[in-house]
Amino acid sequence: MEIFNTIQVTLELSRVQKRLHFEDPDRVQHLIDTALSCIVPRAAFRDVYSDSKQDMGVVLEGIEFQSTVLRKNLENIGRVFPFVITIGDSLEQQAAEYEDLLDRYLLDKIGDLILIQARRQLQNHLQQRYGFKKLSSMSPGSLPDWPLQEQEKLFSLLGDVQGKLGVGLNESLLMLPRKSVSGLYFPTEVSFFSCQLCPRQNCEERKAAFDESKVKEYGLPERSRPGSEPKSNVPV
Ligand code: SF4
Repeated sequence: MEIFNTIQVTLELSRVQKRLHFEDPDRVQHLIDTALSCIVPRAAFRDVYSDSKQDMGVVLEGIEFQSTVLRKNLENIGRVFPFVITIGDSLEQQAAEYEDLLDRYLLDKIGDLILIQARRQLQNHLQQRYGFKKLSSMSPGSLPDWPLQEQEKLFSLLGDVQGKLGVGLNESLLMLPRKSVSGLYFPTEVSFFSCQLCPRQNCEERKAAFDESKVKEYGLPERSRPGSEPKSNVPV
């Protein structure tokens, strides 16, 4: 497992205001400065070769992952990259000290924006280092087809994530620090987004439109039932 710790975060005031739907420039800038002063963005990743494909999943270094979507995405792929990214827990601690609930909320959202930037930088790093034009990713818990229960397997594929990155899993298999994201990158010719298979409405983090034809293509039930909405630390 390698640690990627050269993540550079820049937050432009006007963009953050737009993403937060909140105009007060002084207040937002103060929160940006607070966030940037305490985050420690880092990532852990490995390159792993697929052992075999099964009807309902794939085997990576002897660990069986159950997901028909992952299975299809890795159909002709041999090499994949499990990862965990975090910005540490200082931002959460800082947010908890704010009495104003709106400040807490805004700081939390700024943390999500930082995590998105960190994720983009890890992806660029992997693309450049391994010579892939395009990578897509999936995260345990992003779709009912790949539930959060698979998180432990992903962590064991990486190794000592707690010791080397400071990220562990709680009893509900959510990552701690909370501002962390995990998943598998894989090379693709056409970008894949779990959002294409996710019918959740009014999701501010949606990256691609829900696509009924993709649901059929992946052989999933026509629509996820109520209660089968994605569960993960942050929107993916
Ligand atoms: S970001 Fe939103 S739309 Fe996309 S998979 Fe997650 S919950 Fe669904």
